[in-house]
Amino acid sequence: MSFNKDKPPQIDRVIRSNRTSFGLEIKPDGSLLVRAPKHATQAQIQSVIAKKAAWIERTQERLAKQYPILRPKSFTPGETFWYLGQRYPLQLTDRQRPSLELDGAFWLSRAAQDSARDVFIAWYRAETRAITKNMIHVYTKRFGFSVNKVRITSARTRWGSCSGKNNLNFTYRLCMAPLDTIEYVVVHELVHLKIRNHSKAFWKAVANIVPNYQGDRDWLKQHGAFLTLD
Ligand SMILES: [Zn+2]
Repeated sequence: MSFNKDKPPQIDRVIRSNRTSFGLEIKPDGSLLVRAPKHATQAQIQSVIAKKAAWIERTQERLAKQYPILRPKSFTPGETFWYLGQRYPLQLTDRQRPSLELDGAFWLSRAAQDSARDVFIAWYRAETRAITKNMIHVYTKRFGFSVNKVRITSARTRWGSCSGKNNLNFTYRLCMAPLDTIEYVVVHELVHLKIRNHSKAFWKAVANIVPNYQGDRDWLKQHGAFLTLD
């Protein structure tokens, strides 16, 4: 994906339309899309690319570094997995039990490698259940929330949700986030038991319990896409 001085960057796709200017777009996988006026010549397109070559190269290099993190996990040694806001490498062990253990690294039993995804999900589920259960216990006592059931789900885009019957749901991915951030997500759903919308009153009630919640929202915005096994 790096730029060779003798050769201009490779164009992966050109979209022509009724526009008067050129536009360049680099996709997450590093491919280069050029938007061009309908009658632009090949020479004009090449000249635009040549002028922007340094920017294209820089952007593609930055993406090349990020992209491997977004590829589906292969559960091979050295690959990293999140827990409480940190990444730990995967190591294989001949030990059979437990199938997976976190001790400086994620130690996965060789015997469990074929079912590694399920083993990891089960591990994350148990951790998220234990962590959220503990927080809910503390907060319901202190602030008088009334919680019915807590379910750990496989939700992809939502960290937590609450239902009309005072049930709370959290995705197993939640324990990949830092403890403070998990706390914010739990408090967010607990406060929804009393205030069902995102009004000013809602955010005030959240801030009352976790004053620095904005930092946690930002953290989730920046890292959320990486907290996954997919
Ligand atoms: Zn909400």
